[in-house]
Amino acid sequence: MTEQSSQSHRETRVAVVTGAAAGIGQALAERLASDGLRIAVADIAPAEETLELIATAGSEGFAHHCDVAGGESVAEFAAAVHERFGRCDVLIANAGIYPMASFDDCSWEQWRAVMSINVDSLFHLTKAFLPGMRAAGWGRIVAAASNGFYSGLPDLTPYVASKGAVVGFVRSLSREVGVDGVTVNAYAPSLTLTKGTREGPHEELGLFELVTRGQAIKRTQVPDDIAGLVAFLASDAAGFITGQTIPVDGGAVHA
Ligand code: NAD
Repeated sequence: MTEQSSQSHRETRVAVVTGAAAGIGQALAERLASDGLRIAVADIAPAEETLELIATAGSEGFAHHCDVAGGESVAEFAAAVHERFGRCDVLIANAGIYPMASFDDCSWEQWRAVMSINVDSLFHLTKAFLPGMRAAGWGRIVAAASNGFYSGLPDLTPYVASKGAVVGFVRSLSREVGVDGVTVNAYAPSLTLTKGTREGPHEELGLFELVTRGQAIKRTQVPDDIAGLVAFLASDAAGFITGQTIPVDGGAVHA
Protein backbone atom coordinates (compact mmCIF):
# COMPACT_ATOMS: atom_id res chain seq x y z
CA MET A 1 0.00 0.00 0.00
CA THR A 2 1.37 3.50 -0.85
CA GLU A 3 1.43 6.14 1.90
CA GLN A 4 -1.49 7.95 0.26
CA SER A 5 -3.66 4.86 -0.12
CA SER A 6 -2.75 3.82 3.42
CA GLN A 7 -3.98 7.24 4.61
CA SER A 8 -7.34 6.94 2.83
CA HIS A 9 -7.65 3.32 4.01
CA ARG A 10 -7.19 4.55 7.58
CA GLU A 11 -9.82 7.26 7.22
CA THR A 12 -12.55 4.84 6.25
CA ARG A 13 -11.78 1.91 8.53
CA VAL A 14 -14.59 -0.18 9.92
CA ALA A 15 -14.54 -2.31 13.07
CA VAL A 16 -16.92 -5.15 13.84
CA VAL A 17 -17.33 -5.57 17.59
CA THR A 18 -19.27 -8.59 18.86
CA GLY A 19 -21.00 -8.57 22.22
CA ALA A 20 -20.83 -4.77 22.24
CA ALA A 21 -24.28 -4.09 23.69
CA ALA A 22 -22.71 -4.20 27.17
CA GLY A 23 -19.58 -4.77 29.19
CA ILE A 24 -16.11 -4.95 27.69
CA GLY A 25 -17.42 -4.94 24.10
CA GLN A 26 -19.27 -1.69 24.69
CA ALA A 27 -16.11 -0.02 26.02
CA LEU A 28 -14.16 -1.33 23.01
CA ALA A 29 -16.75 -0.01 20.54
CA GLU A 30 -16.72 3.40 22.21
CA ARG A 31 -12.92 3.59 22.22
CA LEU A 32 -12.53 2.50 18.58
CA ALA A 33 -15.22 5.02 17.60
CA SER A 34 -13.28 7.77 19.36
CA ASP A 35 -10.24 6.66 17.34
CA GLY A 36 -12.27 7.37 14.19
CA LEU A 37 -13.39 3.89 13.19
CA ARG A 38 -16.94 3.22 12.09
CA ILE A 39 -18.49 0.47 14.17
CA ALA A 40 -20.75 -2.50 13.39
CA VAL A 41 -22.15 -4.07 16.55
CA ALA A 42 -23.17 -7.75 16.59
CA ASP A 43 -25.17 -8.77 19.64
CA ILE A 44 -28.25 -10.72 20.64
CA ALA A 45 -29.24 -7.87 22.96
CA PRO A 46 -30.41 -4.37 21.93
CA ALA A 47 -27.46 -1.99 21.56
CA GLU A 48 -29.04 1.51 21.59
CA GLU A 49 -26.84 2.63 24.48
CA THR A 50 -23.70 1.61 22.57
CA LEU A 51 -24.89 3.39 19.42
CA GLU A 52 -25.35 6.57 21.48
CA LEU A 53 -21.80 6.24 22.84
CA ILE A 54 -20.47 5.76 19.29
CA ALA A 55 -22.32 8.89 18.11
CA THR A 56 -21.10 10.90 21.11
CA ALA A 57 -17.56 9.77 20.27
CA GLY A 58 -18.09 11.39 16.85
CA SER A 59 -18.39 8.28 14.72
CA GLU A 60 -21.00 6.27 12.93
CA GLY A 61 -22.32 2.85 13.86
CA PHE A 62 -25.11 0.39 13.47
CA ALA A 63 -26.21 -2.70 15.34
CA HIS A 64 -27.51 -5.97 13.98
CA HIS A 65 -29.09 -8.82 15.91
CA CYS A 66 -26.53 -11.58 15.52
CA ASP A 67 -25.92 -14.80 17.40
CA VAL A 68 -22.18 -15.32 16.91
CA ALA A 69 -22.56 -19.04 17.58
CA GLY A 70 -24.53 -19.53 14.36
CA GLY A 71 -23.03 -19.57 10.89
CA GLU A 72 -26.21 -18.30 9.22
CA SER A 73 -26.65 -15.49 11.70
CA VAL A 74 -23.04 -14.37 11.23
CA ALA A 75 -23.39 -14.55 7.43
CA GLU A 76 -26.50 -12.32 7.61
CA PHE A 77 -24.63 -9.89 9.85
CA ALA A 78 -21.66 -9.85 7.44
CA ALA A 79 -24.02 -9.04 4.58
CA ALA A 80 -25.43 -6.13 6.61
CA VAL A 81 -21.91 -4.84 7.31
CA HIS A 82 -21.04 -4.97 3.63
CA GLU A 83 -24.28 -3.25 2.66
CA ARG A 84 -23.79 -0.47 5.19
CA PHE A 85 -20.02 0.06 5.12
CA GLY A 86 -18.69 -2.06 2.25
CA ARG A 87 -15.80 -3.40 4.33
CA CYS A 88 -14.51 -4.70 7.64
CA ASP A 89 -10.91 -3.90 8.57
CA VAL A 90 -10.96 -4.81 12.24
CA LEU A 91 -12.76 -7.76 13.82
CA ILE A 92 -13.10 -7.70 17.59
CA ALA A 93 -14.43 -11.16 18.53
CA ASN A 94 -15.44 -10.23 22.06
CA ALA A 95 -18.80 -11.93 22.74
CA GLY A 96 -18.48 -14.72 25.24
CA ILE A 97 -20.23 -16.40 28.15
CA TYR A 98 -18.89 -17.72 31.44
CA PRO A 99 -21.55 -19.71 33.32
CA MET A 100 -20.26 -21.06 36.63
CA ALA A 101 -20.90 -24.68 37.63
CA SER A 102 -18.87 -27.56 38.93
CA PHE A 103 -17.85 -30.04 36.26
CA ASP A 104 -20.21 -32.57 37.88
CA ASP A 105 -23.13 -30.21 37.36
CA CYS A 106 -22.16 -29.17 33.84
CA SER A 107 -24.38 -30.74 31.18
CA TRP A 108 -23.40 -31.46 27.60
CA GLU A 109 -25.78 -28.66 26.52
CA GLN A 110 -23.98 -26.17 28.79
CA TRP A 111 -20.58 -27.33 27.52
CA ARG A 112 -21.75 -26.90 23.91
CA ALA A 113 -23.22 -23.46 24.63
CA VAL A 114 -19.86 -22.22 25.95
CA MET A 115 -17.91 -23.78 23.10
CA SER A 116 -20.27 -22.54 20.41
CA ILE A 117 -20.41 -18.93 21.63
CA ASN A 118 -16.76 -18.64 22.69
CA VAL A 119 -15.05 -20.78 20.03
CA ASP A 120 -17.30 -21.69 17.08
CA SER A 121 -17.91 -17.94 16.73
CA LEU A 122 -14.25 -17.47 15.81
CA PHE A 123 -14.72 -19.87 12.91
CA HIS A 124 -17.88 -18.15 11.62
CA LEU A 125 -16.64 -14.58 12.09
CA THR A 126 -13.21 -15.20 10.61
CA LYS A 127 -14.68 -17.03 7.61
CA ALA A 128 -16.94 -14.03 7.05
CA PHE A 129 -14.43 -11.18 7.45
CA LEU A 130 -10.92 -12.49 6.76
CA PRO A 131 -11.28 -12.68 2.94
CA GLY A 132 -11.98 -8.93 2.72
CA MET A 133 -8.99 -8.12 4.93
CA ARG A 134 -6.72 -10.29 2.83
CA ALA A 135 -7.96 -8.68 -0.36
CA ALA A 136 -7.24 -5.23 1.11
CA GLY A 137 -3.81 -6.32 2.32
CA TRP A 138 -4.56 -5.02 5.82
CA GLY A 139 -6.57 -6.37 8.71
CA ARG A 140 -6.75 -6.87 12.44
CA ILE A 141 -8.43 -9.74 14.29
CA VAL A 142 -8.54 -9.36 18.07
CA ALA A 143 -10.28 -11.97 20.24
CA ALA A 144 -11.27 -12.20 23.89
CA ALA A 145 -9.22 -14.69 25.89
CA SER A 146 -9.00 -14.67 29.70
CA ASN A 147 -6.16 -14.67 32.19
CA GLY A 148 -8.00 -17.59 33.82
CA PHE A 149 -6.34 -19.66 31.10
CA TYR A 150 -2.98 -19.38 32.86
CA SER A 151 -4.08 -20.51 36.33
CA GLY A 152 -7.26 -22.47 35.59
CA LEU A 153 -10.46 -21.56 37.43
CA PRO A 154 -12.65 -23.87 39.52
CA ASP A 155 -16.28 -24.15 38.37
CA LEU A 156 -15.30 -22.69 35.00
CA THR A 157 -13.74 -25.68 33.23
CA PRO A 158 -15.65 -25.31 29.92
CA TYR A 159 -14.95 -21.57 29.94
CA VAL A 160 -11.22 -21.92 30.55
CA ALA A 161 -11.03 -24.70 27.95
CA SER A 162 -12.75 -22.39 25.47
CA LYS A 163 -10.30 -19.57 26.19
CA GLY A 164 -7.41 -22.00 25.68
CA ALA A 165 -8.86 -22.58 22.24
CA VAL A 166 -8.78 -18.82 21.63
CA VAL A 167 -5.06 -18.73 22.52
CA GLY A 168 -4.37 -21.56 20.07
CA PHE A 169 -6.53 -19.97 17.40
CA VAL A 170 -4.68 -16.64 17.36
CA ARG A 171 -1.29 -18.32 17.58
CA SER A 172 -1.95 -20.56 14.58
CA LEU A 173 -4.05 -18.35 12.31
CA SER A 174 -1.52 -15.52 12.68
CA ARG A 175 1.05 -17.73 10.96
CA GLU A 176 -1.19 -18.20 7.93
CA VAL A 177 -2.26 -14.61 7.37
CA GLY A 178 0.75 -12.48 8.34
CA VAL A 179 1.84 -12.57 4.73
CA ASP A 180 -1.42 -10.79 3.81
CA GLY A 181 -1.00 -7.89 6.25
CA VAL A 182 -3.45 -9.34 8.78
CA THR A 183 -2.53 -9.67 12.46
CA VAL A 184 -4.35 -11.94 14.93
CA ASN A 185 -4.09 -11.36 18.67
CA ALA A 186 -6.06 -11.76 21.88
CA TYR A 187 -6.52 -9.83 25.12
CA ALA A 188 -6.63 -11.72 28.43
CA PRO A 189 -8.40 -9.73 31.14
CA SER A 190 -8.69 -10.56 34.79
CA LEU A 191 -12.08 -10.49 36.53
CA THR A 192 -13.71 -7.31 35.23
CA LEU A 193 -16.79 -5.49 36.47
CA THR A 194 -19.32 -5.84 33.63
CA LYS A 195 -22.98 -6.60 33.12
CA GLY A 196 -22.14 -10.32 33.09
CA THR A 197 -20.09 -10.36 36.28
CA ARG A 198 -22.56 -8.03 38.04
CA GLU A 199 -25.36 -10.47 37.30
CA GLY A 200 -23.27 -13.54 38.21
CA PRO A 201 -22.39 -14.93 41.65
CA HIS A 202 -18.98 -13.18 41.64
CA GLU A 203 -19.80 -10.51 44.23
CA GLU A 204 -21.54 -12.97 46.54
CA LEU A 205 -18.57 -15.35 46.38
CA GLY A 206 -16.14 -12.53 47.25
CA LEU A 207 -14.31 -13.00 43.96
CA PHE A 208 -13.71 -9.30 43.24
CA GLU A 209 -11.92 -8.94 46.57
CA LEU A 210 -9.96 -12.16 46.13
CA VAL A 211 -8.82 -11.29 42.61
CA THR A 212 -7.92 -7.70 43.52
CA ARG A 213 -5.69 -8.97 46.35
CA GLY A 214 -3.67 -11.02 43.85
CA GLN A 215 -3.08 -8.10 41.48
CA ALA A 216 -0.20 -5.61 41.60
CA ILE A 217 -2.80 -2.86 41.07
CA LYS A 218 -5.24 -3.12 43.96
CA ARG A 219 -8.56 -2.24 42.40
CA THR A 220 -11.23 -4.03 40.41
CA GLN A 221 -10.67 -4.07 36.66
CA VAL A 222 -13.18 -2.14 34.56
CA PRO A 223 -13.87 -2.43 30.80
CA ASP A 224 -11.99 0.80 29.97
CA ASP A 225 -8.80 -0.83 31.29
CA ILE A 226 -8.91 -3.16 28.28
CA ALA A 227 -9.81 -0.57 25.66
CA GLY A 228 -6.30 0.94 25.38
CA LEU A 229 -4.69 -2.40 24.55
CA VAL A 230 -7.35 -3.33 22.02
CA ALA A 231 -7.23 0.09 20.32
CA PHE A 232 -3.46 -0.37 20.01
CA LEU A 233 -3.76 -3.91 18.60
CA ALA A 234 -6.29 -2.59 16.07
CA SER A 235 -3.99 0.21 14.93
CA ASP A 236 -1.16 0.56 12.41
CA ALA A 237 1.26 0.90 15.34
CA ALA A 238 0.78 -2.77 16.27
CA GLY A 239 1.49 -4.06 12.75
CA PHE A 240 4.45 -6.21 13.86
CA ILE A 241 2.66 -7.84 16.80
CA THR A 242 0.80 -11.02 15.98
CA GLY A 243 -0.08 -14.43 17.39
CA GLN A 244 0.00 -13.03 20.93
CA THR A 245 -2.35 -13.29 23.87
CA ILE A 246 -1.68 -10.27 26.05
CA PRO A 247 -2.75 -10.20 29.70
CA VAL A 248 -4.37 -6.94 30.76
CA ASP A 249 -5.04 -7.77 34.38
CA GLY A 250 -3.45 -5.30 36.79
CA GLY A 251 -0.40 -7.50 37.19
CA ALA A 252 -2.19 -10.60 38.43
CA VAL A 253 0.01 -13.48 39.51
CA HIS A 254 -0.50 -16.44 37.20
CA ALA A 255 -0.08 -19.51 39.40
P1 NAD B 1 -21.05 -9.36 29.35
O1 NAD B 1 -21.85 -10.56 29.73
O2 NAD B 1 -21.04 -8.20 30.27
O3 NAD B 1 -21.46 -8.86 27.90
C1 NAD B 1 -21.41 -9.80 26.84
C2 NAD B 1 -22.21 -9.30 25.66
O4 NAD B 1 -22.17 -10.37 24.70
C3 NAD B 1 -23.68 -9.02 26.00
O5 NAD B 1 -24.10 -7.81 25.39
C4 NAD B 1 -24.42 -10.23 25.42
O6 NAD B 1 -25.72 -9.93 24.97
C5 NAD B 1 -23.50 -10.59 24.23
N1 NAD B 1 -23.66 -11.98 23.82
C6 NAD B 1 -23.79 -13.08 24.59
N2 NAD B 1 -23.98 -14.17 23.84
C7 NAD B 1 -23.97 -13.75 22.54
C8 NAD B 1 -24.12 -14.40 21.30
N3 NAD B 1 -24.35 -15.72 21.22
N4 NAD B 1 -24.03 -13.66 20.16
C9 NAD B 1 -23.82 -12.33 20.23
N5 NAD B 1 -23.69 -11.65 21.37
C10 NAD B 1 -23.76 -12.35 22.52
O7 NAD B 1 -19.55 -9.93 29.08
P2 NAD B 1 -18.15 -9.28 29.45
O8 NAD B 1 -17.91 -9.53 30.88
O9 NAD B 1 -18.07 -7.90 28.91
O10 NAD B 1 -17.15 -10.25 28.65
C11 NAD B 1 -16.79 -9.99 27.30
C12 NAD B 1 -15.69 -10.96 26.88
O11 NAD B 1 -14.57 -10.82 27.74
C13 NAD B 1 -16.12 -12.43 26.95
O12 NAD B 1 -15.56 -13.15 25.88
C14 NAD B 1 -15.51 -12.88 28.26
O13 NAD B 1 -15.25 -14.25 28.29
C15 NAD B 1 -14.23 -12.06 28.29
N6 NAD B 1 -13.70 -11.89 29.64
C16 NAD B 1 -14.48 -11.31 30.60
C17 NAD B 1 -13.97 -11.18 31.88
C18 NAD B 1 -14.80 -10.56 32.98
O14 NAD B 1 -14.42 -10.73 34.16
N7 NAD B 1 -15.86 -9.82 32.69
C19 NAD B 1 -12.69 -11.64 32.19
C20 NAD B 1 -11.93 -12.24 31.19
C21 NAD B 1 -12.46 -12.36 29.91
